[in-house]
Amino acid sequence: MSEGILSGRVGVVFGVANKRSIAWAIAQAWVAAGARLIFNYQGERVRGNVEELAAACGPDTPVAQCDVSRDDEIAGFFDFVRSSAGRVDLLLHSVAFAPREALEGRFIDTTRQAFAVAHDISAYSLVAVSRAAAPLMTDGGSIVTLSYYGAEKVVPHYNVMGVAKASLEASVRYLAHDLGPQRIRVNAISAGPVNTLAARGISGFMEMYKHYEAHAPLRRNVTLEEVGQTGLFLASDGGAGITGQTIYVDSGYSVMGM
Ligand code: NAD
Repeated sequence: MSEGILSGRVGVVFGVANKRSIAWAIAQAWVAAGARLIFNYQGERVRGNVEELAAACGPDTPVAQCDVSRDDEIAGFFDFVRSSAGRVDLLLHSVAFAPREALEGRFIDTTRQAFAVAHDISAYSLVAVSRAAAPLMTDGGSIVTLSYYGAEKVVPHYNVMGVAKASLEASVRYLAHDLGPQRIRVNAISAGPVNTLAARGISGFMEMYKHYEAHAPLRRNVTLEEVGQTGLFLASDGGAGITGQTIYVDSGYSVMGM
Protein backbone atom coordinates (compact mmCIF):
# COMPACT_ATOMS: atom_id res chain seq x y z
CA MET A 1 0.00 0.00 0.00
CA SER A 2 1.43 3.36 -1.01
CA GLU A 3 1.70 6.17 1.52
CA GLY A 4 -0.33 9.18 0.52
CA ILE A 5 -2.96 11.66 1.63
CA LEU A 6 -5.72 9.04 1.22
CA SER A 7 -3.70 6.24 2.76
CA GLY A 8 -5.96 3.80 4.64
CA ARG A 9 -9.17 5.19 3.11
CA VAL A 10 -11.72 3.06 1.28
CA GLY A 11 -13.45 4.53 -1.77
CA VAL A 12 -16.48 3.34 -3.72
CA VAL A 13 -16.50 4.39 -7.38
CA PHE A 14 -19.66 4.51 -9.51
CA GLY A 15 -19.39 5.33 -13.20
CA VAL A 16 -16.34 3.80 -14.86
CA ALA A 17 -17.24 2.66 -18.39
CA ASN A 18 -13.78 2.87 -19.98
CA LYS A 19 -10.42 4.61 -19.62
CA ARG A 20 -11.87 7.94 -20.89
CA SER A 21 -14.45 8.03 -18.07
CA ILE A 22 -14.20 10.93 -15.62
CA ALA A 23 -14.74 8.31 -12.87
CA TRP A 24 -11.54 6.57 -13.97
CA ALA A 25 -9.55 9.83 -13.83
CA ILE A 26 -10.70 10.46 -10.26
CA ALA A 27 -10.22 6.79 -9.29
CA GLN A 28 -6.61 6.92 -10.53
CA ALA A 29 -5.94 10.06 -8.47
CA TRP A 30 -7.46 8.41 -5.38
CA VAL A 31 -5.37 5.24 -5.86
CA ALA A 32 -2.17 7.22 -6.41
CA ALA A 33 -2.89 8.93 -3.07
CA GLY A 34 -3.13 5.57 -1.32
CA ALA A 35 -6.88 4.76 -1.27
CA ARG A 36 -8.26 1.26 -1.74
CA LEU A 37 -11.21 1.18 -4.14
CA ILE A 38 -14.34 -0.84 -4.96
CA PHE A 39 -15.92 -0.35 -8.39
CA ASN A 40 -19.41 -0.84 -9.78
CA TYR A 41 -20.20 -1.68 -13.37
CA GLN A 42 -23.57 -0.90 -14.88
CA GLY A 43 -24.06 -4.20 -16.73
CA GLU A 44 -22.41 -6.90 -18.82
CA ARG A 45 -21.62 -4.47 -21.66
CA VAL A 46 -18.96 -2.67 -19.61
CA ARG A 47 -18.03 -5.44 -17.17
CA GLY A 48 -14.82 -6.51 -18.98
CA ASN A 49 -13.52 -2.93 -19.21
CA VAL A 50 -14.18 -2.22 -15.55
CA GLU A 51 -12.61 -5.50 -14.40
CA GLU A 52 -9.49 -4.77 -16.42
CA LEU A 53 -9.15 -1.20 -15.11
CA ALA A 54 -9.89 -2.27 -11.51
CA ALA A 55 -7.12 -4.90 -11.73
CA ALA A 56 -4.69 -2.06 -12.54
CA CYS A 57 -5.53 -0.59 -9.10
CA GLY A 58 -4.41 -3.76 -7.33
CA PRO A 59 -4.92 -7.48 -7.98
CA ASP A 60 -7.77 -7.95 -5.48
CA THR A 61 -9.74 -4.80 -6.23
CA PRO A 62 -13.42 -5.72 -5.77
CA VAL A 63 -15.87 -5.13 -8.62
CA ALA A 64 -19.63 -5.78 -8.67
CA GLN A 65 -22.66 -5.00 -10.80
CA CYS A 66 -24.95 -2.14 -9.83
CA ASP A 67 -27.48 -0.51 -12.11
CA VAL A 68 -28.41 2.59 -10.10
CA SER A 69 -31.98 2.59 -11.43
CA ARG A 70 -32.60 -0.60 -9.39
CA ASP A 71 -33.04 -0.52 -5.61
CA ASP A 72 -32.35 -4.27 -5.31
CA GLU A 73 -28.99 -3.89 -7.09
CA ILE A 74 -28.02 -0.91 -4.88
CA ALA A 75 -28.82 -2.95 -1.74
CA GLY A 76 -26.90 -5.98 -3.08
CA PHE A 77 -23.93 -3.84 -4.09
CA PHE A 78 -23.58 -2.25 -0.64
CA ASP A 79 -23.88 -5.71 1.02
CA PHE A 80 -20.91 -6.63 -1.17
CA VAL A 81 -19.06 -3.45 -0.10
CA ARG A 82 -19.75 -4.21 3.58
CA SER A 83 -18.42 -7.77 3.25
CA SER A 84 -15.35 -6.80 1.22
CA ALA A 85 -14.23 -3.65 3.06
CA GLY A 86 -16.37 -3.22 6.19
CA ARG A 87 -16.48 0.54 5.83
CA VAL A 88 -16.44 3.42 3.35
CA ASP A 89 -14.67 6.80 3.48
CA LEU A 90 -15.14 8.09 -0.07
CA LEU A 91 -18.00 7.78 -2.55
CA LEU A 92 -17.79 8.87 -6.18
CA HIS A 93 -21.01 9.21 -8.19
CA SER A 94 -20.11 9.82 -11.83
CA VAL A 95 -23.28 8.58 -13.52
CA ALA A 96 -25.80 10.16 -15.87
CA PHE A 97 -28.17 9.11 -18.60
CA ALA A 98 -30.93 10.55 -20.78
CA PRO A 99 -32.47 9.00 -23.89
CA ARG A 100 -30.55 10.21 -26.94
CA GLU A 101 -33.59 11.82 -28.58
CA ALA A 102 -33.95 14.06 -25.51
CA LEU A 103 -30.44 15.48 -26.13
CA GLU A 104 -31.22 16.92 -29.54
CA GLY A 105 -33.96 19.22 -30.76
CA ARG A 106 -36.01 21.34 -28.34
CA PHE A 107 -36.33 20.95 -24.56
CA ILE A 108 -40.07 21.60 -24.84
CA ASP A 109 -40.48 18.29 -26.66
CA THR A 110 -39.08 16.21 -23.75
CA THR A 111 -41.44 13.31 -23.06
CA ARG A 112 -42.69 12.43 -19.57
CA GLN A 113 -40.75 9.17 -19.85
CA ALA A 114 -37.44 10.79 -20.89
CA PHE A 115 -37.80 13.41 -18.13
CA ALA A 116 -38.38 10.68 -15.52
CA VAL A 117 -35.48 8.48 -16.70
CA ALA A 118 -33.01 11.39 -16.84
CA HIS A 119 -33.89 12.48 -13.30
CA ASP A 120 -33.96 8.94 -11.92
CA ILE A 121 -30.52 7.93 -13.20
CA SER A 122 -28.75 11.29 -13.13
CA ALA A 123 -30.07 12.85 -9.89
CA TYR A 124 -32.11 10.49 -7.70
CA SER A 125 -29.38 7.84 -7.87
CA LEU A 126 -27.06 10.15 -5.87
CA VAL A 127 -29.62 10.19 -3.06
CA ALA A 128 -30.07 6.42 -3.22
CA VAL A 129 -26.34 5.53 -3.17
CA SER A 130 -25.59 8.14 -0.48
CA ARG A 131 -28.31 6.67 1.75
CA ALA A 132 -26.86 3.18 1.26
CA ALA A 133 -23.25 4.30 1.86
CA ALA A 134 -23.84 6.58 4.87
CA PRO A 135 -24.19 3.80 7.50
CA LEU A 136 -20.79 2.47 6.35
CA MET A 137 -19.15 5.92 6.61
CA THR A 138 -18.54 5.50 10.31
CA ASP A 139 -15.60 7.90 10.48
CA GLY A 140 -17.11 10.68 8.35
CA GLY A 141 -16.28 10.91 4.67
CA SER A 142 -16.57 12.65 1.34
CA ILE A 143 -19.15 12.16 -1.41
CA VAL A 144 -18.37 13.62 -4.85
CA THR A 145 -20.65 13.82 -7.88
CA LEU A 146 -20.28 15.29 -11.39
CA SER A 147 -22.35 18.12 -12.79
CA TYR A 148 -22.31 20.48 -15.76
CA TYR A 149 -22.96 24.20 -16.37
CA GLY A 150 -26.20 23.34 -18.21
CA ALA A 151 -27.70 23.09 -14.68
CA GLU A 152 -27.43 26.85 -14.36
CA LYS A 153 -27.59 28.31 -17.88
CA VAL A 154 -29.19 27.19 -21.13
CA VAL A 155 -26.77 25.15 -23.21
CA PRO A 156 -28.45 24.19 -26.50
CA HIS A 157 -29.04 20.40 -26.85
CA TYR A 158 -28.23 19.70 -23.18
CA ASN A 159 -31.97 20.04 -22.55
CA VAL A 160 -33.43 17.68 -19.91
CA MET A 161 -29.94 16.77 -18.71
CA GLY A 162 -29.49 20.41 -17.63
CA VAL A 163 -32.71 20.21 -15.62
CA ALA A 164 -31.58 16.90 -14.09
CA LYS A 165 -28.19 18.45 -13.19
CA ALA A 166 -30.01 21.35 -11.46
CA SER A 167 -31.82 18.70 -9.40
CA LEU A 168 -28.49 16.96 -8.75
CA GLU A 169 -26.86 20.19 -7.50
CA ALA A 170 -29.84 20.92 -5.22
CA SER A 171 -29.65 17.32 -3.96
CA VAL A 172 -25.97 17.91 -3.10
CA ARG A 173 -27.01 20.81 -0.83
CA TYR A 174 -29.80 18.87 0.90
CA LEU A 175 -27.57 15.81 1.36
CA ALA A 176 -24.81 18.04 2.78
CA HIS A 177 -27.31 19.29 5.37
CA ASP A 178 -28.53 15.79 6.29
CA LEU A 179 -25.07 14.18 6.45
CA GLY A 180 -23.04 17.07 7.90
CA PRO A 181 -23.65 16.01 11.54
CA GLN A 182 -22.10 12.63 10.61
CA ARG A 183 -19.01 14.50 9.26
CA ILE A 184 -19.84 13.42 5.71
CA ARG A 185 -19.23 16.13 3.11
CA VAL A 186 -21.09 16.20 -0.20
CA ASN A 187 -19.92 18.23 -3.21
CA ALA A 188 -20.26 18.39 -6.99
CA ILE A 189 -17.56 19.05 -9.56
CA SER A 190 -18.99 20.95 -12.52
CA ALA A 191 -16.61 19.90 -15.29
CA GLY A 192 -16.08 21.59 -18.62
CA PRO A 193 -16.57 19.39 -21.70
CA VAL A 194 -14.43 16.23 -21.82
CA ASN A 195 -14.63 13.86 -24.79
CA THR A 196 -16.15 10.75 -23.15
CA LEU A 197 -18.76 8.15 -24.14
CA ALA A 198 -21.57 10.06 -22.38
CA ALA A 199 -20.49 13.38 -23.95
CA ARG A 200 -20.64 11.95 -27.46
CA GLY A 201 -24.36 11.29 -26.88
CA ILE A 202 -25.02 15.05 -26.79
CA SER A 203 -25.67 16.42 -30.25
CA GLY A 204 -23.31 19.29 -31.09
CA PHE A 205 -20.79 18.20 -28.43
CA MET A 206 -17.74 18.99 -30.61
CA GLU A 207 -19.13 22.47 -31.28
CA MET A 208 -19.38 23.01 -27.51
CA TYR A 209 -15.83 21.72 -27.08
CA LYS A 210 -14.45 24.18 -29.65
CA HIS A 211 -16.50 27.04 -28.17
CA TYR A 212 -14.83 26.53 -24.76
CA GLU A 213 -11.40 26.49 -26.37
CA ALA A 214 -12.10 29.83 -28.04
CA HIS A 215 -13.84 31.63 -25.16
CA ALA A 216 -12.75 30.21 -21.76
CA PRO A 217 -10.26 32.43 -19.86
CA LEU A 218 -7.62 29.67 -20.08
CA ARG A 219 -8.32 29.34 -23.88
CA ARG A 220 -8.36 25.54 -23.69
CA ASN A 221 -10.45 22.67 -22.44
CA VAL A 222 -9.83 20.95 -19.13
CA THR A 223 -8.03 17.61 -19.02
CA LEU A 224 -9.23 14.42 -17.38
CA GLU A 225 -6.22 14.67 -15.05
CA GLU A 226 -7.31 18.11 -13.86
CA VAL A 227 -10.80 16.85 -13.01
CA GLY A 228 -9.13 13.88 -11.27
CA GLN A 229 -7.00 16.20 -9.13
CA THR A 230 -10.06 18.21 -8.03
CA GLY A 231 -11.70 14.89 -7.10
CA LEU A 232 -8.64 14.15 -5.00
CA PHE A 233 -8.76 17.59 -3.35
CA LEU A 234 -12.43 17.15 -2.39
CA ALA A 235 -11.74 13.67 -1.00
CA SER A 236 -8.73 14.80 1.03
CA ASP A 237 -8.36 16.92 4.15
CA GLY A 238 -7.66 19.84 1.80
CA GLY A 239 -11.42 19.95 1.28
CA ALA A 240 -12.25 19.40 4.97
CA GLY A 241 -14.24 22.64 5.33
CA ILE A 242 -16.10 22.35 2.01
CA THR A 243 -19.59 20.85 1.72
CA GLY A 244 -22.76 21.42 -0.29
CA GLN A 245 -20.79 23.16 -3.07
CA THR A 246 -20.56 22.95 -6.83
CA ILE A 247 -16.93 23.55 -7.80
CA TYR A 248 -16.29 24.57 -11.42
CA VAL A 249 -13.39 22.87 -13.19
CA ASP A 250 -13.99 24.44 -16.59
CA SER A 251 -10.98 26.62 -17.55
CA GLY A 252 -13.01 29.51 -16.13
CA TYR A 253 -15.70 29.39 -18.84
CA SER A 254 -18.59 29.89 -16.39
CA VAL A 255 -17.39 33.37 -15.30
CA MET A 256 -17.80 34.85 -18.79
CA GLY A 257 -20.72 37.16 -19.64
CA MET A 258 -20.04 37.11 -23.35
P1 NAD B 1 -19.00 7.97 -19.20
O1 NAD B 1 -19.92 7.48 -20.27
O2 NAD B 1 -17.62 7.47 -19.20
O3 NAD B 1 -19.64 7.71 -17.75
C1 NAD B 1 -21.04 7.66 -17.53
C2 NAD B 1 -21.27 6.46 -16.64
O4 NAD B 1 -22.64 6.39 -16.23
C3 NAD B 1 -20.95 5.14 -17.35
O5 NAD B 1 -20.00 4.42 -16.60
C4 NAD B 1 -22.28 4.40 -17.35
O6 NAD B 1 -22.12 3.00 -17.21
C5 NAD B 1 -22.93 5.02 -16.11
N1 NAD B 1 -24.37 4.78 -16.07
C6 NAD B 1 -25.33 5.25 -16.90
N2 NAD B 1 -26.54 4.74 -16.53
C7 NAD B 1 -26.31 3.96 -15.44
C8 NAD B 1 -27.14 3.16 -14.61
N3 NAD B 1 -28.47 3.03 -14.83
N4 NAD B 1 -26.57 2.49 -13.57
C9 NAD B 1 -25.24 2.57 -13.34
N5 NAD B 1 -24.41 3.32 -14.08
C10 NAD B 1 -24.94 3.99 -15.13
O7 NAD B 1 -19.02 9.57 -19.34
P2 NAD B 1 -18.48 10.73 -18.38
O8 NAD B 1 -18.43 11.92 -19.24
O9 NAD B 1 -17.28 10.27 -17.65
O10 NAD B 1 -19.69 10.95 -17.36
C11 NAD B 1 -19.55 10.90 -15.96
C12 NAD B 1 -20.30 12.05 -15.29
O11 NAD B 1 -19.67 13.27 -15.64
C13 NAD B 1 -21.75 12.19 -15.73
O12 NAD B 1 -22.54 12.56 -14.60
C14 NAD B 1 -21.70 13.34 -16.70
O13 NAD B 1 -22.93 14.02 -16.84
C15 NAD B 1 -20.66 14.20 -16.02
N6 NAD B 1 -20.04 15.26 -16.83
C16 NAD B 1 -19.45 14.96 -18.01
C17 NAD B 1 -18.88 15.98 -18.77
C18 NAD B 1 -18.23 15.68 -20.09
O14 NAD B 1 -18.04 16.61 -20.88
N7 NAD B 1 -17.85 14.45 -20.36
C19 NAD B 1 -18.93 17.31 -18.31
C20 NAD B 1 -19.54 17.57 -17.08
C21 NAD B 1 -20.10 16.53 -16.36
